[in-house]
Amino acid sequence: MTTTTTRLLDNYVNGRWVPAAEPDGLLDVTNPASGAVVARVPLSGAADLDAAVTAARAALPAWREVSTIGRARMLFELRERLSARSEELAESVTTEMGKTIGDARAEVARMIEMVEAACAIPTTMQGRVLEDVSRNIDAATYRQPVGVCAAIVPFNFPAMVPFWFLPFAIACGNTFVLKPSEQVPLTQQIAFEELDAIGLPDGVVNLVNGGRAVVEAILDHPGIDAISFVGSAPVAKLVYERAAKAGKRVQALGGAKNHMVVMPDAVLDKTVSGIIGSAFGAAGQRCMAGSVVVTVADAHEQLVGPLAEATRALRVGDGHDDGTDVGPVISGSARDRIRDWIDRGVADGAKVLVDGREAGAEPAGCYVGPTILDEVTPAMAIAQEEVFGPVLCVIRASTLDEAIEIVNSSRFGNGTSIFTESGASVRRYRHEVQAGMIGVNIGVAAPVAFFPFSGWKDSFLGDLHAHGTDAVEFFTRKKTVTSRWFSDGQGHGSYFVEH
Ligand code: NAD
Repeated sequence: MTTTTTRLLDNYVNGRWVPAAEPDGLLDVTNPASGAVVARVPLSGAADLDAAVTAARAALPAWREVSTIGRARMLFELRERLSARSEELAESVTTEMGKTIGDARAEVARMIEMVEAACAIPTTMQGRVLEDVSRNIDAATYRQPVGVCAAIVPFNFPAMVPFWFLPFAIACGNTFVLKPSEQVPLTQQIAFEELDAIGLPDGVVNLVNGGRAVVEAILDHPGIDAISFVGSAPVAKLVYERAAKAGKRVQALGGAKNHMVVMPDAVLDKTVSGIIGSAFGAAGQRCMAGSVVVTVADAHEQLVGPLAEATRALRVGDGHDDGTDVGPVISGSARDRIRDWIDRGVADGAKVLVDGREAGAEPAGCYVGPTILDEVTPAMAIAQEEVFGPVLCVIRASTLDEAIEIVNSSRFGNGTSIFTESGASVRRYRHEVQAGMIGVNIGVAAPVAFFPFSGWKDSFLGDLHAHGTDAVEFFTRKKTVTSRWFSDGQGHGSYFVEH
């Protein structure tokens, strides 16, 4: 008889893989396509977090003295190593999170793009200098690392979201502690194997697995200087308030309800495929997923039929299978919550155009099929709250102004798109709409690594966005030096004497 033992994950602290010292239990990591247990993750405690912070603090003085190009060279090597294992990383994302393998490959490509953008640090971290701010006086602003930085991340991008922060933080000379989502801890194990292999000094990067207890320990630890959070809006608020109260620098990216406005002059087939990819890609579990279509005037009549037809043609199944368009959602409880949301929308008066409630390739899998609810009004809860599943609402507006009003009535302001061939409509929309990321004829307008990523309103608490130039701002402190010299630079006299 053969017995298989489920892999128990370690933490990575001070350059070594170590078991959690004081786990508050172990959690099964499951493949949401089948329900199979693929690993177990420790729910680490405050002592584990403290060990990681102690290591990060100890590593800080030497790491910040490594030359900027020296730090960048390590990231160049990391880029090569992650690229060599990109297929393994994508497989891991699909196994633990459920998104299709195509989606997972795109996510890993974006993760590696973050490392590439961080390799530019010798340029992006440069300060500013101005001669003669006053007579014979010069001013210079230098950038220095903030210190020990920590990131707390969600389940929906196991590869990419941790890398919105890690490469930029260490490139700037900080040391780092990552707490992955306890629902998807596997992919970062691979990433940390490669971080281990590039020869970073012990303690520069640390990985502590766990849930709420580790988050609370991060928020309260006096040895942590800056916190980056990505997750749901209520936890973002909690993290932001508690970390700020403790005097830490903090950026907290929260939930979303993203609108896609369709004008009557939109190119229909491209609009349909843009909406489908946005609403149902990753089974709607993206913070940039479009979850409400706002049709303007005649656009409703043109769009709804082809949209429903294309949605019905989507194949639901295991993300590893080539023919799958929509994978499972993350867990059984997420599946039940999403089905309840659809029921509630119907009870509130929405009309089911495509019903995914009964979809499911495997009884043990966590499936909800793509669903479209028509005749939704802005007052309905399903139009306002984040469902985080493959559920698309359709709201009608008579004019672009009314559409903008609907979009701006949301308490969220993450991403939004407009589909039209009119430059004037785009200009007006871009100017008026209250959201941080806008797509023009693009369903998922997630900025690339060298531009900043974040929303407005309840979708974001903080000042500096993720990645791009904002990352360098967030992970550095500025120091401005104003100087003057009294001698003439030739070893004698005062510069002013002869003048
Ligand atoms: P979540 O808020 O449940 O969890 C995020 C992190 O917080 C996890 O690491 C988790 O362990 C921790 N956490 C959860 N509850 C906590 C609590 N009560 N106290 C302290 N820590 C806690 O989010 P999720 O379900 O993993 O991810 C989905 C959410 O993330 C969605 O709302 C989505 O919109 C959002 N998201 C936002 C962005 C963005 O850029 N704005 C990007 C990705 C995901």
